[in-house]
Amino acid sequence: MILFESVSKKYRGTKRPAVDRVSFNIERGEFVFIVGASGSGKSSCLRMILREEQPSGGRIHVLGHDLSKISNRKVPYFRRNLGVVFQDFRLLTNKTVFDNVAFSLQVIGKSRGFIQEAVPDVLEMVGLGGKAKRFPHELSGGEQQRVAIARAIVNKPAVLLADEPTGNLDPATSLGIMQLLRAINASGTTVVMATHEATFVDIMQQRVIELSQGVVVRDEQRGGYGETAAIDLGDLTEAGARVLRASEDVVRSTLSAHVEPVAAPADPEPLSVEEAEFAMQQEPVIPEPPAAPTIPGAPESLADDDLDLTVLAPRQASQAPSAPPGTFSAALGLTPNEDQEDVGPVR
Ligand code: ADP
Ligand code: MG
Repeated sequence: MILFESVSKKYRGTKRPAVDRVSFNIERGEFVFIVGASGSGKSSCLRMILREEQPSGGRIHVLGHDLSKISNRKVPYFRRNLGVVFQDFRLLTNKTVFDNVAFSLQVIGKSRGFIQEAVPDVLEMVGLGGKAKRFPHELSGGEQQRVAIARAIVNKPAVLLADEPTGNLDPATSLGIMQLLRAINASGTTVVMATHEATFVDIMQQRVIELSQGVVVRDEQRGGYGETAAIDLGDLTEAGARVLRASEDVVRSTLSAHVEPVAAPADPEPLSVEEAEFAMQQEPVIPEPPAAPTIPGAPESLADDDLDLTVLAPRQASQAPSAPPGTFSAALGLTPNEDQEDVGPVR
C-alpha cells in the first residue's frame, strides 16, 4: 500500500541526503511508527508519501500508484486518500470546530447534507461531540489535536499520516491521542506516525521503522523505541527522572487496561444512504488480496493500470457549494473547485 524502493532525498544546497536509499513496504491496515532523532528524515518520508516532496532517487508507490507518474494537476485528487495531522494542529483560528472539519469537505465538493451528517459523527468519534461550536482558542491542546484528527479522517482516507502528533502535548493528553489513533487504525485505516517520543512506541508494540541520518537502521514488527534516540534517564535530574517514570507507569497501566495489542475488527455497521454512495464512489477497481479489516467506505486501493484519479472525485461536485481556493486548501492539499470539471463517471 505504501512502498518505498531505495528512496533517497537530497535537498538543494545540502551535502548529505536527508533520506538515503530507504526501502519498506507498509501493508493495508498496519500501524507503523517511524522513529529516529530529530533530523533523521521522518518528516521527509511523510512529505514524499504525500507527494509534497519528490525523491531524488528510487520509487514510491502509494495505493497502487507510482507517485512519479501522477501529474501535478492530479495530486490534489490523490491526496484525498490521505489524512494528515501535524504537531502544531494547523486549525483555522477563525472557524468553529464544526466549520474546521466541514471546510475540508466543502473544498472537495461534498454536499451540505453529507457534511451535516458526517461532521457530527466524526466529532462524536474523536470525543468532541459537545464542542462543535467552540473556536480553537477555547480548546485545550489535546482537544485541538482531536479536531485536526477529525478533519483528517472525516473523508474516510485509506491512510492517516501523523507527524509528531503528540509533540506539543503532555503525557496524559498524548495517551488519549494515541488511543484515538489506535482506534482509527482498528477500524481499518492504515496509520503511519512519525515520532521521537519513546514511551508510546515502547508501549504500543507495533511495527517500528527506525531512521538514523536518513538510513533505515531497524524495521521490526513489534518493536519498542530502541536505543538510538531513547531518552537516557541518567541525563535527567533525579526529580525529572521520577516524573518521567511516573508518567510512563500511568501511561503503561492505562494503555494496557484499554488497548489490546491487536484489536479485533469491529463489526461494520449498516451504511446510511450517503455512506453507501460514498463507498460506491470509492470502490477499488482491482481489490488487493485480503489483509486487514477496513472501515466501511474506506478506499482500499486504486487501480494500478492508469492514473485516472477521477474515480476519487465526488459525484455531487457539480451541485456542490463552491469554496474559494485558499491557503487552507493548499495546506491540506485539497483542490480548488476549478479542477472539478474533471469529475468523471464513477467506476
Ligand atoms: P525529522 O522529521 O526526522 O526531524 P526531516 O525530514 O525534517 O527529519 O529532516 C531531515 C534532514 O533534512 C535534516 O537534516 C533537515 O535539516 C533536512 N531538511 C529537511 N527539509 C529540508 C529542506 N526543505 N531543505 C533543506 N534541508 C531540509
Ligand atoms: Mg520532523
